[in-house]
Amino acid sequence: MSKTTPMMQQYYDIKRQYEDAFLFFRLGDFYELFFNDAELAARELEITLTRRGKGEDAAPMCGVPYHSAENYITRLIEKGYKIAICEQVEDPQSAKGVVKREVIRVITPGTIMEEKALKADNNHYIASLSNNENGYTAYVRTDLTTGETDGGVIGSAVIDIERALMVDGLHEVIFPNEDDLLPEWKEWKNAAPFTVSYEKNQEIPSNYEHLYEGSNLQIQKAFGQMLNYLGRTQKRALAHLQPLRTVIMQEYMQMDIHTRRNLELTASLQERKKKGSLYQLLDHTSTAMGGRLLQRFLEQPLARKTDIERRLTLVNQLVDEVLSRAQLQERLKDVYDLERLAGRVAYGNVNARELVQLRNSLRQIPGILEILPFLGEEGTHLTEEVDRCEPLLQRLEAALVDEPPVTIREGGMIRSGYDKELDEYREASENGKTWLSNLEQEEREKTGIQNLKVRFNRVFGYYIEVSKAQLANVPDRFERKQTLTNAERFATPDLKDMENRILEAEEKMEQLELNLFKQVREETNAYISQLQQLAKMIAYIDVMQSFARVSEERRYVRPQFSHDRTMMLKGSRHPVVETTLQSGAYVDNDVYMDQDREQLLITGPNMAGKSTYMRQIAIIAVMAQIGCYVPADEAVIPMFDRIFTRIGAADDLVSGQSTFMVEMVETKHALQEASADSLILLDEIGRGTSTYDGMALARAIIEYIHEDVGAKTLFSTHYHELTVLEEHLQRLWNVHVKATEEGGEVVFLHKIEEGRADKSYGIHVAQLANLPNSVIERARTLLTEYEKPQEKQQSEAELKLQHEQLPLFTYEERPPAKTSRKGIDSEIEEIATYVREADVLNM
Ligand code: ADP
Repeated sequence: MSKTTPMMQQYYDIKRQYEDAFLFFRLGDFYELFFNDAELAARELEITLTRRGKGEDAAPMCGVPYHSAENYITRLIEKGYKIAICEQVEDPQSAKGVVKREVIRVITPGTIMEEKALKADNNHYIASLSNNENGYTAYVRTDLTTGETDGGVIGSAVIDIERALMVDGLHEVIFPNEDDLLPEWKEWKNAAPFTVSYEKNQEIPSNYEHLYEGSNLQIQKAFGQMLNYLGRTQKRALAHLQPLRTVIMQEYMQMDIHTRRNLELTASLQERKKKGSLYQLLDHTSTAMGGRLLQRFLEQPLARKTDIERRLTLVNQLVDEVLSRAQLQERLKDVYDLERLAGRVAYGNVNARELVQLRNSLRQIPGILEILPFLGEEGTHLTEEVDRCEPLLQRLEAALVDEPPVTIREGGMIRSGYDKELDEYREASENGKTWLSNLEQEEREKTGIQNLKVRFNRVFGYYIEVSKAQLANVPDRFERKQTLTNAERFATPDLKDMENRILEAEEKMEQLELNLFKQVREETNAYISQLQQLAKMIAYIDVMQSFARVSEERRYVRPQFSHDRTMMLKGSRHPVVETTLQSGAYVDNDVYMDQDREQLLITGPNMAGKSTYMRQIAIIAVMAQIGCYVPADEAVIPMFDRIFTRIGAADDLVSGQSTFMVEMVETKHALQEASADSLILLDEIGRGTSTYDGMALARAIIEYIHEDVGAKTLFSTHYHELTVLEEHLQRLWNVHVKATEEGGEVVFLHKIEEGRADKSYGIHVAQLANLPNSVIERARTLLTEYEKPQEKQQSEAELKLQHEQLPLFTYEERPPAKTSRKGIDSEIEEIATYVREADVLNM
């Protein structure tokens, strides 16, 4: 058995404390990994695996160079791993025995601050969950890059958690003790697309107590869990953490993760990217902060009228004040990501170049604040409580040059005139350099060597270079330093003396610059919360100007909110589909629903535009409730508390459940949780099972919503038989998408009209898809057979039979009816209603 060396012993001792992370063990210019870490990292990073030591006990090992480590770290983090960075914490030269080493930070997917791993457009979240016996869970969610935290109380079911937490930017979730997890959570976390961590300590550390002023015990615990985890991994004071913002669920429109995806709010369904989403369409923000805020708006639309109207009022002003808006956009362009910058300042690793970006941003602030009062009360309101950080700006102006280098160790950052001592050193070094260039001239004259040069390099310092041909003329006072193929290099005592003086001055200069820079950085540190405040204001006004810009460009209108659940859209469009078609090609449509017309059953051929119509209504509701104008000529909208969608989506397969099962589970949630103030979209429900099965279920679901939920519902179906429901259900109305036949071919008009579709055009669509002619012909013949009167009667009779034998649902089993939002927000409801009676009656 070979003996463990002291260094390996040190390695074992440290590794034992970081079992769930790669231990990046600093050895000179490398971070080394050993054993399992090494084997896994070599595979994941495709780097060479070597061995340390000999024989059977040789340790598998691999390493990455210190200077390019960020790259490797980022790659491991993106794969969901954690990395403990273990540094040498004493000077190896003066160390007795093994150099002391310590883990200085654990980088995890949710806590990475390195710019390469972050997306400017996305928040980067780590969340923490804690539950109690009564079925309540608190979540807390922090973006460490900006220091923002929000939290709230939700149900313990996975669907509740997903609704509150699951957005693209979530990278890590901290759970309490692993052994106490709810069984449901265990299953969920194993399949979840985020890194799982644990933290047992739920006590809020005393230095962070001011960050939570609420009294909810459960939130306190989840927050404590978060802060202890951050403390344990980041190992530094996090001065940029902002107070926790408590989210009251009722103040926001609730959408589950499928609905957000189906409506393609922040990412397109097919590519899961911003491209093709509503986010991309609405995003004309000039700053990264604005972009992220817009995304948050889309993930969490509002449900309180006062909040929404404030945004709409500002957008309205910005639409009207074209000049102010143009100026604003111009100034916002030069504002850097203040939010993340504040975070990096807190981490103590900003460089001079970033502080210059901060300076350029701060220069824009007075100009921006000057415009806001032109935007009415809401604009003026924004100027209150922001600090322009003028002393900081002055300091940055005075201290930093225009284009400093990235590194902070080689000088060149501080302006001349800022510090007397620095100026003196600079002058000394300048003088030395003049002396040197004079020396060249002098020596040429003295020696007669015309091509003699005085030069500098990092290894040999200053030297005099003489070509081989001229060596005979070199005087004795020249001391040989180095021989090259074509030349010799020399020094003289004078030159050496001057070299010492210059290098000394430069060294002092660099040290002094570094110190001066650190002072400036310290001073910036004191402004973190002011900068965060400014960042919020900038992000907000940026989103508002972005809304104003699209609204104007795309001819959107300001939505108005009805007090009696009326929905009236004239000339409405699907904002994203509209942009994919040629100008004018999108057929606009009207929508009318009210208390006597709660459900629309939409029929019409495939590809006619049923699903587009349904989505467009939901998207318009979302746009209105984030405070944006909407794609319509006129829009009156009820305030929705929730939106549910059941729209066939490609991602159903991922979960491994059958599409039909997913469909039923989602429908269950809609039936259970929807209130009369909700919007439900059900696209071709029941398609995944046999015809009568599907039709029966579809019908039962419609009836249930009609009788017991009362939510606004749009229901598309290819079961034409269901259109008879209009006669039985008072608040259900048939509408259809119009299509005509021209020369035996179907022409989609995409126009929604009252009443049921008279026939299905499936075969025509098959024809459009170029199915073989023989198939089309055969289908036509069969169809004529099927459509013979007796067949039709039979199927209607069957339906009738089912109608009488059912109900499929025993209504007693249903959950207690949800209270409508109305009661909760009665104050808000009293605020003036905008429904124009005349228009409503005209419909
Ligand atoms: P369905 O749900 O009836 O099968 P979709 O809603 O998927 O049909 O629409 C099919 C296609 O028709 C869409 O991709 C779109 O290109 C086009 N379309 C839908 N609605 C409209 C409209 N109002 N104006 C113009 N084109 C439309």
